[in-house]
Amino acid sequence: MADRDGVIWYDGRMVPWRDAQTHVLTHTLHYGMGVFEGVRAYPTERGPAIFRLADHTRRLFRSAHILGMNIPYTPDELNAAQLAAVRENGLTGAYLRPMCFFGPEGMGLRADNLQVHVIVAAWEWGAYLGAENLERGIRVKTSSYSRHHVNVTMCKAKANGNYMNSMMALHEALGCGCDEALLLDTEGYVAEGSGENFFMVYDGVIYTPELTSALDGITRRTIMTLAEEVGIPVREKRITRDEVYVADEAFFTGTAAEVTPIRELDGRSIGNGGRGPVTERLQGLYFDVVQGRHPKHEDWLAYL
Ligand code: PMP
Repeated sequence: MADRDGVIWYDGRMVPWRDAQTHVLTHTLHYGMGVFEGVRAYPTERGPAIFRLADHTRRLFRSAHILGMNIPYTPDELNAAQLAAVRENGLTGAYLRPMCFFGPEGMGLRADNLQVHVIVAAWEWGAYLGAENLERGIRVKTSSYSRHHVNVTMCKAKANGNYMNSMMALHEALGCGCDEALLLDTEGYVAEGSGENFFMVYDGVIYTPELTSALDGITRRTIMTLAEEVGIPVREKRITRDEVYVADEAFFTGTAAEVTPIRELDGRSIGNGGRGPVTERLQGLYFDVVQGRHPKHEDWLAYL
């Protein structure tokens, strides 16, 4: 990944990909105190566009605020940096990774006056959970790891350190032959996937967990809006794993995962064991929106 052509926006200027380096004593590398985003750009008839750019940047600043980190740029500057990262790498579709981290100016938990550094990388990245799985659906395992408790870490921050929990859960699920993990909260209710929000469909109603210990996903909000626009009711509620077993449909949402059907949880097939009709409809609407084919939501697209 580090050895490739292209440029990375690093502290205000474009740096050749291979030269975008930092010191081994980079503070965030040691303690995980940093914040990041995952953003996508899609090709449209009017050229590449970043989906909900302003919303991702807003969440990045909110994450930093939660951690007490001061980003030394304005949201407008970071929006421009993301557009430039797609443009200057000559990409039409891209995954973008803005990240803010503390530098190597000090070590130890008590280090202060640390500089906040910001990078934006952009590269081509296909379907995160596999192109064929957008139709076929994935196999999911309830994790033995609980999702973060709200007083253990800050669930509303997309913080680097939070992802150790995600990776433990994901690797456990992969080791069991599944594609993704479903994490429950510390009380045993469904929270989210390792990098996705969760939805299920039951008797014509869409359910998704409240956000207590899940990330406030931008794809989640998009799907809730699109569902309501076509008259499918959406409710936020506590969900148990056995409710998922007997759901008609289930799916994950995320910038990387887009709208990925869940065909199986813990060896039980869900609904028809493939992509259900509600999931298919919302997935179609989602791709229409991100690829600029949905006139009502043009304002979600930031063209290069
Ligand atoms: N939950 C977690 C833990 C995530 O990492 C992500 C990906 N950012 C999501 C949910 C989905 O969020 P979004 O739709 O904004 O990508």
